[in-house]
Amino acid sequence: MPFRCASPGDALILDRAGCIDRRAPGWTALSASRPLIEATVRRRLAELPGVRVLDGTEVTALESSGDGREVRGVSLRRVAGGERSSVGAALVVDASGRGSRAPHWLANLGYPEPTRTQVDPDIAYASRIYRVPEGFRADWKAVMLFSGPPHQPRTGYLFPIEDRQWILGVMGAAGQHPPTDEEGLQSFLRSLRDPVIAEALAGAEPVTEVRGHRGTVNRVWHFERMRRWPERFVVLGDAACSFNPIYGQGMSTAAVAAETLDECLCAQRRRRTDGDLHDVGRRFQRALARRNADPWVFATGEDLRFPTTTGATAGPVTRVMHRYLDRIDAAATHDAVVSDVYARTIGMLERPTALFRPRILAAAIRSGRVPAASAAPTAAVPTPRTPAEQQQEVRA
Ligand SMILES: Cc1cc2nc3c(=O)[nH]c(=O)nc-3n(C[C@H](O)[C@H](O)[C@H](O)COP(=O)(O)OP(=O)(O)OC[C@H]3O[C@@H](n4cnc5c(N)ncnc54)[C@H](O)[C@@H]3O)c2cc1C
Repeated sequence: MPFRCASPGDALILDRAGCIDRRAPGWTALSASRPLIEATVRRRLAELPGVRVLDGTEVTALESSGDGREVRGVSLRRVAGGERSSVGAALVVDASGRGSRAPHWLANLGYPEPTRTQVDPDIAYASRIYRVPEGFRADWKAVMLFSGPPHQPRTGYLFPIEDRQWILGVMGAAGQHPPTDEEGLQSFLRSLRDPVIAEALAGAEPVTEVRGHRGTVNRVWHFERMRRWPERFVVLGDAACSFNPIYGQGMSTAAVAAETLDECLCAQRRRRTDGDLHDVGRRFQRALARRNADPWVFATGEDLRFPTTTGATAGPVTRVMHRYLDRIDAAATHDAVVSDVYARTIGMLERPTALFRPRILAAAIRSGRVPAASAAPTAAVPTPRTPAEQQQEVRA
């Protein structure tokens, strides 16, 4: 069973200005390991009428009309054995993730290479699962220690997952990558902005090795800008737009993309009662680009706080946004209305425009600017309230 965790109620979230106020109702997250999430999605998908899963089979190409204007199916290859086959389709949806070959497949049909934007904060990620120690008590269920750019590029998360386990995620931007050896990991944990994770894990038994992950550049393919687009083909999820994983937006963005496709298909059904899908693909890619804009601006905007980030620079608009978000962060440490909207915005339950509502704007104006967080561990964190201080407050 996944773990239910209220954000921010059950979570110590140390943002740039300090811990965000946990009195806010926020929202409830289901926290689970990736295998459990994927197995659940797969089981529920397979239960839908008309769905057949072709295990151990990969798509190798798009099949199309002779002039390449219309996609009509895909070519398949069995991973074990290499037998080839094909399957026809009214609509082909490329949801094959970050490594999608859509640009290559489009080129094979005679389309020009789509343009793309990449913003690279040079982040690496490491994770490990631990058993929660018997009798462990804390007044939090999850901890998120965000980096403090530009000087402190290290982030650490500790989330409860199924079977009384924790998943640790540590990330380092600007080349300060988390080590995957035991000693290096411990030292990285101690260098986070607060020792709460290092202390909790001191008595916890690791269940897995430390797993490292690179290749976390933010990348968006501008399929919506292509002048020609084949009929009956769409690209979504990480295949269209993928993020550095620090802000946890990838799955929600992929789910929003699926919703957007549903909306486009419903609109098409109203427009064309004969089932014709003419121009759906192009309309979908444009709608998707609009929906992806918010998480993209948020993720890349935050990454641009590090001067070492490549692919874009923080222009005047981004710098103003940084200053405004700094004020929101500061207000969110002591104002439950602000922390509620803030948590819901980070969780993508509200659009970022929610941060400009009059009540939030007024709180942001009243709050001071946040000093840059230090690279040094806890003692030097120049924040109004550390997790320990806030825990004492919550107990009181
Ligand atoms: C280290 C890390 C941590 C992350 N943490 C979070 C997080 O905490 N929260 C969050 O929301 N997101 C997180 N993400 C991002 C999240 O994993 C992705 O955004 C999300 O999985 C995208 O879903 P997708 O369906 O588009 O692609 P994927 O989940 O990548 O799925 C693509 C599927 O297509 C299959 N496939 C690929 N090529 C082919 C082919 N040719 N033929 C047939 N099948 C193919 C793959 O095997 C895979 O099953 C994280 C990502 C990473 C790398």
